[in-house]
Amino acid sequence: MNKFYVTTAIDYVNAAPHIGHAYQKIVADVLARWNKVLGKKVFFLTGTDEHGKKIAESAQKNNKTPKEFVDEISQKFVTSWQALNLDFDRFIRTTDEDHKKTVLEFVKKIEESGDIYKGKYSGWYCVGCERYYTETEMPDKVCPFHKKPLEEVSEDAYFFRLSKYQDFLLGLYEKNPEFILPVERKNEMVNRVKEGLQDLCITRASLDWGIPFPLDKSHVIYVWFDALINYYTAINSDDKKIFWPADVHLLGKDNGWFHAIIWPAMLKSVGIEMPKNVFIHGFLTFNGNKISKSLGNVISPLVLADKYGADPIRYYCLRQIPFGEDGDFSEEALVNRHNSELADTLGNLVNRVIVLTEKNFDGLVPQKGEDDNLSKLALETVEKTRKALDNFQFNVALNDIFYFLGEANKYINDNEIWAIKDKEKLGNMMYNLLEAIRFSSILLYPFIPETSEKITEQLGLEKKFCFDDLKWGLLKTGTKTKRGKVLFQKIKC
Ligand SMILES: [Zn+2]
Repeated sequence: MNKFYVTTAIDYVNAAPHIGHAYQKIVADVLARWNKVLGKKVFFLTGTDEHGKKIAESAQKNNKTPKEFVDEISQKFVTSWQALNLDFDRFIRTTDEDHKKTVLEFVKKIEESGDIYKGKYSGWYCVGCERYYTETEMPDKVCPFHKKPLEEVSEDAYFFRLSKYQDFLLGLYEKNPEFILPVERKNEMVNRVKEGLQDLCITRASLDWGIPFPLDKSHVIYVWFDALINYYTAINSDDKKIFWPADVHLLGKDNGWFHAIIWPAMLKSVGIEMPKNVFIHGFLTFNGNKISKSLGNVISPLVLADKYGADPIRYYCLRQIPFGEDGDFSEEALVNRHNSELADTLGNLVNRVIVLTEKNFDGLVPQKGEDDNLSKLALETVEKTRKALDNFQFNVALNDIFYFLGEANKYINDNEIWAIKDKEKLGNMMYNLLEAIRFSSILLYPFIPETSEKITEQLGLEKKFCFDDLKWGLLKTGTKTKRGKVLFQKIKC
């Protein structure tokens, strides 16, 4: 089956979305669009994680019921993702009815596998992370992410036999070297499993904002256990089952443990096929500062999209930061890239070529001539882009595409195209330039879809973006081009 299923982490709705959340969702959208270009049937899932103590507490602070509170905040996530032109197929909420149903099915099957038992939990809990830490992990009893003292909790609880899956997990990583990427994160996970796994507490008795535990109604399901199942809920219907297994789960480095260790063990217990890849990426800072609420509105995806537009933000994030590593969302660097790459290299090329076609050929695509270096480079760029995107190297793909665009600009200058008097020679060269623009509109579509659509419009073509159309010479002679507005107005610093 020629399909692609990509998921993002589902964010906690205890606070409004920020650019750090947005980064991963942009990556998911690029992967989804690229796989559509490749001709696959695609399902792109994102959403919000809405249960747990942290949310119950945030709701209370805001004088709202948990449900009122999560309704309001999850809507902010939806609006933010729309502002960044993210074309997701479903926005899942863990308070959705079909999710609760799927969670209950999971619990039932895990119990049937003999993997649930009742015990007593004493441990150290971080409400911020919604997870327990053991004393060996955190001897100072302070959360490594939130730097806050851990809370001591002791209560009756139900457990999942995670310890049973140690050998299975090590075998899984060995047989599927790409199950966890990138490699440094994989090694970290392998080492943690080798240290030995403890059974996992999956219910809480002292909380009621959660999915009731079907085996004992005085407990609710531990928020993480419920949340992970969302990836299966979304395709748990007859028409969507074809999308399983997930091709990529994207998540930040604080979530590796849950996705690379707990989730595959849960799936194994239920008897469901493993996802193909779990990609663990780094964190963003903003203008050099750690992203936190104290930065205020400036880190809001809505505010940033309003200020710069969706495409420049998408482009900047993917070109600037090698995916997997930590990175900085620097507004100054964004403006520089916007002006020198999007406006000067891409925008200027499109404008020059369309204007020259208008001036010399009444806006009609001229006759194709011999292939030359530009056509050769175009085809090489297609292969390089494909290879880079297969390996999650978004910055490499954009470097290659922009090298090609730079060469197209050079082609105009080196050949002094504006001065060529021989109409046939000029026509052949203009054809190659128009074809170069058409190629780049398809290659750039996953990254900057709105811009690609505008380029296609200026070329007088249908707005469709297919890998199969990346063959040199498909642009039809006589096609009427249409000069449009300048693609990127320079931003003054
Ligand atoms: Zn924490």
